[in-house]
Parts: sequence; structure tokens; C-alpha cells
Amino acid sequence: MARIEYAPAPESRAVVKLRRQYGLFIDGEFVEPASGEYYATINPADESPLALIAEGGEADVDRAVRAARRAFTKWSKLSGAERAKYIYRIARILQERAREFAVLESMNNGKPIKESRDVDIPLVAAHFFHYAGWADKLEYAGFGPNPRPVGVAGQVIPWNFPLLMLSWKIAPALACGNTVVLKPAQTTPLTALLFAEVCQQAELPAGVVNIVTGHNQTGAAVVAHKGVDKVAFTGSTAVGRQIAETVAGTRKRLTLELGGKGANIVFDDAAMDQAVEGIVNGIYFNQGHVCCAGSRLLVQESVAEEVVARLKRRMQTLRVGDPLDKNTDVGAINSAAQLARISELSDSGSTEGAERWSSDCALPDKGFWFAPTVFTNVSQAHRIAREEIFGPVLSVLTFRTPAEAIEKANNTQYGLAAGIWTEKGSLILKMASELRAGIVWANTYNKFDPASPFGGYKESGYGREGGRQGLAGYLEADHV
Ligand code: NAP
Ligand code: MG
Repeated sequence: MARIEYAPAPESRAVVKLRRQYGLFIDGEFVEPASGEYYATINPADESPLALIAEGGEADVDRAVRAARRAFTKWSKLSGAERAKYIYRIARILQERAREFAVLESMNNGKPIKESRDVDIPLVAAHFFHYAGWADKLEYAGFGPNPRPVGVAGQVIPWNFPLLMLSWKIAPALACGNTVVLKPAQTTPLTALLFAEVCQQAELPAGVVNIVTGHNQTGAAVVAHKGVDKVAFTGSTAVGRQIAETVAGTRKRLTLELGGKGANIVFDDAAMDQAVEGIVNGIYFNQGHVCCAGSRLLVQESVAEEVVARLKRRMQTLRVGDPLDKNTDVGAINSAAQLARISELSDSGSTEGAERWSSDCALPDKGFWFAPTVFTNVSQAHRIAREEIFGPVLSVLTFRTPAEAIEKANNTQYGLAAGIWTEKGSLILKMASELRAGIVWANTYNKFDPASPFGGYKESGYGREGGRQGLAGYLEADHV
């Protein structure tokens, strides 16, 4: 099919002022790591180095936790309205500097600028606004009359929504009067470090937010530190399990947001064009690096052929390439390691007998890329139907009745998200009540709002982030 060629529409990088090297953000300033070691963070779209990042170790984590503890004494005693002033100020600065954050996020993560600009960064600011609003209303949040902060929160986040995950962690923690030590993912530290500058600009008291960059062992040090009262983790189920073991038997509180294998369920009466858009948004948004991605399409047998044909036609129009080009729909895979994992799992799909089809887009020579891919003839036993691929790869299964759809959708170790496409309200309600998933979308997919709670069942973790429910993890209260 002929595709209209668009002229390139690159977003300017000039808004971003990168430093050559970034220290750790501890007690309100950037400091050298104890080891003196730095590693390079790159742009996954062309593998060019962006900056040198401090490798934080146990001594640095200790220093950050102590700073957070000292800051807690004063921060926790401020009135909610006083804390809210700072959080509102952060939210407004994030809006003012939105373009800078969007460009930097796309450079370090590989996601298309239209997503970082229109989805990630606006949602980040919205999260801070939302939780600023809660700070002076905590006694009305439904947790009893005297909610108190937990203390120092140790927070570890992944690379797929770097700044958004930071906001989900930091905004509620601060609103409730806690202080934090946050470890960004090793591949995507830059927007967290720019956020540290925003904390300075907002004159947030020193030590309330500390950012310690580094690798796995830096995260492990945050989780294990005796001075941490609450651990909040978003990432893989394997690492979540290790963290649960570390925290077991301590006084620490724990919330885990882990992996998923979401079912996007299309009934024969669904509005077909909208459903196809929803399928595309469900799995190709953010290169499929989405824990709640609709990575399993369950389509009613009578319309399966037509849905798949329309889906392929739509996939041919997806523009894959330069994340900073405003026309781009699908950007770069975040790392060589993630690309290897996506390739390995996709190869297993072919080996196990599923039928593979990819859009015939041209991929850039440099950087990490994977064409949008769909597998048909998938059975429930295939690895691509069971394991989280975390890439732009969709597995299609079919069903005949609602009961079969529910059984197949629930046949997974995970339980994060699901989607339903039908005109029948009664069917939506029935499905939603029987699906074992923390989030169920109806006739839409991947819709986020700071007021709605997000979290999983089963091996997708426990605890909720967002909304009133998202306060619970950060409060000591009579009814938490
Ligand atoms: P990951 O390996 O679990 O890493 C997540 C974070 O934990 C990173 O900062 C990582 O540091 C750190 N880490 C690694 N090992 C650790 C340990 N033993 N102790 C403490 N921290 C440790 O996950 P990922 O591969 O980066 O992200 C992909 C996975 O995250 C997918 O499975 C996806 O489903 C899940 N995820 C879930 C959600 C959700 O909300 N439920 C959101 C996003 C992603 P390094 O960066 O150095 O590895
Ligand atoms: Mg990792």
C-alpha cells in the first residue's frame, strides 16, 4: 500500500541543556558518588552518549537515607497546606518546563515526542496537582481521623515511563508528609535528574527528595537500608519477588507494581474501527513497553479474520523512526538488552508454530528497533501468550462465548489490566466483574488519570497508586 511520505518534523533539541556529568542529588545538592564512578547514559535511537551518570553505592544510599530522615523531622510537621504549596509549585514548574522534559524524555527513553509531549509530561504535572490537593485533606481521605506519614520512603522505578513513574511515587509520598530516596532505572536517569533541579527551583527543603542513580545493586541497597520505612517498587515480577523476600520480617511497608499480560477482548458487535485503534494503542503505544499493555488480543471467532485484516492494514500506516520527529508513532526500543528479550520471545513464537507478521517499515541502521509485529494462530500454551514481552508484539487468540473469553483472559499468572470492546453495557459489567485484573477499560485502552487507582492482582503485585487509594501506602492510620 502506498504511504504518504511526510517531510521530517523534528522537535528541536535546543531546549535541553545537558551537563557533561551528573552527580547524585542528596540533601538538596548534586554530590560526587563515594566510589567516584560514573557510567554513560545513551540515546537508544542512535546509541549516542548523552551524559555521565553517578554510580551510587551503599555509602551513598546511606547518606541519602540520613538526609531524608533529617528532613522528615521538619517536613512531616508542616501543615498539609504548607506542603501543598511546594507540591503545587513543583507542578507548575513542570508545566512551564514541559517541552524541555518531553524532549529529554524522548532522547533518553526512545519514546515518540508526541507521546512524551501529550501523554507523559501532562500526566506527570497532573499527578503533582492531584496530590497537592490531597495534602491538607488527608483526614477526610477515609483512613480515620489522624493519618500520619510513614517516614522515609525508598522508591525504585523502571525505564518505560521514567518521569511518570517518578511522579506516581514522589507526589503521594510528599503530600502525606514523607521524605524519599528514589532510584531511577539505570538506562533512563536524565528526567529524574532534571526533576532534582526542579526541586531546587521550587525551594523544596533539602533532603525531602533525594535521587540516587545507579544499577541493580543501588536499588537493592535502597530496599535493604534499615532507615527506610516504606518500599515502593515498580518493575519486573522477578525483581519484585526478591524485594518481597528482602522486606519480609522487617517493619517496612511494601507496595509492588509488577508485570502484566493484559487481555484486550473484542466482541463481534464492537465498533470495528474504534476497536482496531484501541488494539493498536493497547500494544504499540510506547513501543509496547507498558506493563498494562493489551498484549493478548482475544477476538470473537466470527469477526477474527476481519479484525486481523483491518489491524494489519492499520499497522502498515504506523510510522516507526526518530523519536523526536513529531510524525513518529513508534520509537526506539529502550535498550539492547530489551531488544534481545523481545527478539528471543518473538523467535519462540515462530518456533512454537504461531504465524508471525510485521509491518514492512524501514528501520534505522543505528539504535535499537523492532517493527510492530502480530502473531496469529497462537495457542494458550505458547510462550508469547504467557510471558510478558514488553515490546511491540501482539498475540492473537480467539473465543466463541463470553465465558470462554473470561476463562482465557484470566488464564495468566498476571492480573494488571484488561480491555473490553462491545456495544452491550450488560456484557461490559459482567466481564468487568469476572476479569481478575486491577484495571478494566471498556471501549478504550491505556487511559490514565491521577484520580483513578492503578495496580494489580496475582503476580502483578499489590497496593494501588493514584487516587485516594494511592495515599494508603504512605500513611499510618487507624483504617489503612
Ligand atoms: P527491573 O529489572 O525489575 O527494574 C526495575 C528497577 O529496579 C530498575 O530501577 C532496576 O535497576 C531496579 N532493580 C533491578 N534489580 C533490583 C534489585 N535486585 N533490587 C532492587 N532494585 C532492582 O524491570 P525492568 O526490566 O527495568 O522493567 C521492565 C519490567 O517492569 C516489566 O516486566 C514490566 O512489566 C515491569 N513494569 C511494571 C510496571 C507497573 O506499573 N506494574 C510499570 C513499568 C514496568 P536497573 O535499571 O539498574 O536494572
Ligand atoms: Mg533491569
